[in-house]
Amino acid sequence: MPFAWSVKDQALLQRFSFPATSVSNEQVLFRNECLVFAQMPERTGLTTIYHETRKLENENDDFERNGLDSSRLITVLKFCGGEGCLELGRSYHALIAKTGLDADDFVATSLIDMYAKCGDMDSADALFNQMPRFDVASCNCLISGYARCGLFDEGFRFFMKYDSFGNKPNPYTYSTMLAISGTFSVIEEGKQLHAQVVKMQYLSETAVSNALLTMYIKCGVMEDAESLFKRLPRRNVISWTAIINGLYQHKDFEKAMRLFCLMRENGIEPNEYTFTIALASCGSMRNLDCCHLLHALVIKKGMALGEFVGTAIIDMYSEIGEMDDAKKQFKAMETSASKVSRNALTKGLVQNEKAKEALDAFSEMVRKDAACDEFTFSIILKACASLPSITSCQQIHARIVKANFDTNTHVGSSLIEAYTKCGSVEEAERVFSRISAPDVVSWNSVIKAYSQNGNPRRAISLFRRMIDRGFRPTGSTFLAVLSACSHSGKIQEGQEIFQSMVSEFSISPEEAHYSCMVDLLGRSGQPEKALDYINNLPIEPTASIWKPLLAACRCHKNLRMAELVAKHILALDPDDATVYVTLSNMYAEAGQLVNAENQRKLMKLKEVTKEPGCSWTEVNNKIHKFFARDRTHPESAKIYSKLKQVMMQIKGTAYGTTNANSQQLKADPSLYHSEKLAVCFALISLPARKPVRIFKNLRVCSDCHMFMKSVSLVTDRVIVLSDNYRFHHFNEGCCSCGDYW
Ligand code: ZN
Ligand code: ZN
Repeated sequence: MPFAWSVKDQALLQRFSFPATSVSNEQVLFRNECLVFAQMPERTGLTTIYHETRKLENENDDFERNGLDSSRLITVLKFCGGEGCLELGRSYHALIAKTGLDADDFVATSLIDMYAKCGDMDSADALFNQMPRFDVASCNCLISGYARCGLFDEGFRFFMKYDSFGNKPNPYTYSTMLAISGTFSVIEEGKQLHAQVVKMQYLSETAVSNALLTMYIKCGVMEDAESLFKRLPRRNVISWTAIINGLYQHKDFEKAMRLFCLMRENGIEPNEYTFTIALASCGSMRNLDCCHLLHALVIKKGMALGEFVGTAIIDMYSEIGEMDDAKKQFKAMETSASKVSRNALTKGLVQNEKAKEALDAFSEMVRKDAACDEFTFSIILKACASLPSITSCQQIHARIVKANFDTNTHVGSSLIEAYTKCGSVEEAERVFSRISAPDVVSWNSVIKAYSQNGNPRRAISLFRRMIDRGFRPTGSTFLAVLSACSHSGKIQEGQEIFQSMVSEFSISPEEAHYSCMVDLLGRSGQPEKALDYINNLPIEPTASIWKPLLAACRCHKNLRMAELVAKHILALDPDDATVYVTLSNMYAEAGQLVNAENQRKLMKLKEVTKEPGCSWTEVNNKIHKFFARDRTHPESAKIYSKLKQVMMQIKGTAYGTTNANSQQLKADPSLYHSEKLAVCFALISLPARKPVRIFKNLRVCSDCHMFMKSVSLVTDRVIVLSDNYRFHHFNEGCCSCGDYW
């Protein structure tokens, strides 16, 4: 019966230009190797070769004699270990035992290695004890196995038994042990190993000395690493790179660059990896000259267009905000450009607030059918969120579904965050429900979505459900749920949740949590309690802890306390323009016009500048931006006549009655605030009933807030306004914030 190859196998073999017509034992071996190199992620690939090898066994009587030689077995066992296929490895073990090949030292060691790599340490240990002779390679396999399973103590105990075997560890054993000490960051054991290495005179082995160096760096003791480096008898490119990388990791970029230069002076040529670290150090140093010099050197070495170093150049220029240079580099790499370098460029554009360009670059990627991974989608969704543009978000969502990434945990969480930023919480929850295995990050994102987007009760109930499902909330979960409690006025519940965070989940509160608690107490009309709370905090109150109390004073018109709180904030952050503005507005409301004017003068005197208010909205996939009294928009005339019309319409509403006085003051500046212009533009441009989404860089003023409420009522529209504090969902004359913001 002829042997049949599966379609998948044929495709694979074609890639290795192997004629898949007949089969021999040679081909089985070759196929095994093909599979190893192809690194097939699915275990199905392995099961296939197993079954087919078995089939072959039955067909070929000579197989056991000819087919099962030790070198072939070692390849298969290595494969099983690498892929973590314990069952298949065990079957081979049975086959090996049957043929007596386990007497072969190499085969026995491979078996131990296979078991150790698959995490079956008991079997590995039992096999080791059965070995007739001591074998240092098997010892090393066992030690690595313990390390991989996170069994540091067992590994170390086994290492200490070496003497009882009547044998000495070899340099490789020390490298392995040092790597384990570094990973587990156990400096005491590391130092013991160091002493032994010196005694055994292994320090001149560069593999051992480099492992020592890496151990000190991983344990975070740079002084020891540096002094060891200075005393090393032999230093190769790996040792230099290790110490430079250590300095980089510990953010000593200047020193990293000094050593990089010293390395070259010592006649050691940096490799690609050394260059990427040097490039990253230069970027972090924010020294453009240094970046250009290093870039020139990389070009001279002919390394600038490789994926690895080339991408590091893009990262470096992105880091210092030189996006033109980054784009030039990407263009130069065009033919060799990969997913990694594309992602680096997109990330740089997003980081440097060039979200529109990042979206264009992404469209280009899609046009060229370039491969996207979860990282690509996560960055591009950040771009949508920063604009924020719901249209782009929806377009990319469609891409994600097409690429089968919509059930991916990371992409899902990014998508939730992007939709949240765009004010579309319904979409966010729909995405959440599609994620196949939501993790803490996904739960946090969806809780935050509801907390920020006017449904705090839903946020709290999701928080309860998350705990019921056995997830452990993090600091950010509590931040989201505490702010939800605060928005929904659940004082008691908020305080209980805060308590449980500390006592039940042992999370120590940070500045932001305290700030949330102050907001909670202040908002509930208990500014005195909030003040007490601040005065009794275990940490020194910061400006951001005081700020919510100032907001509470403003809402509850407590001018006296506002004056006190403002003093505290300005002492900590003298340039905070919002404090002067808030005080000035409060004085004005209380009829203390002189004081109000004084605040404005004070602000001018201290040269504190208030960022000009600006609002934007997305119409037909384009962002339209407005400033107060803006007449630069091409549709300006229509916008102003719409504003007039709306003002007439809402005369009979709450807005009309409370603003009767200011209406008479024709010059009232708040009439032309940017968000009013933006909403009127959206009203004349969007189809009926489509929700209007406005974004503003500053806190919305009370006049505009009331205006939006009335407009939502008379035009029968949902208006979502996101200011730099929170989202307001206006619907049928009410706002989700409950008039507290
Ligand atoms: Zn306003
Ligand atoms: Zn509101």
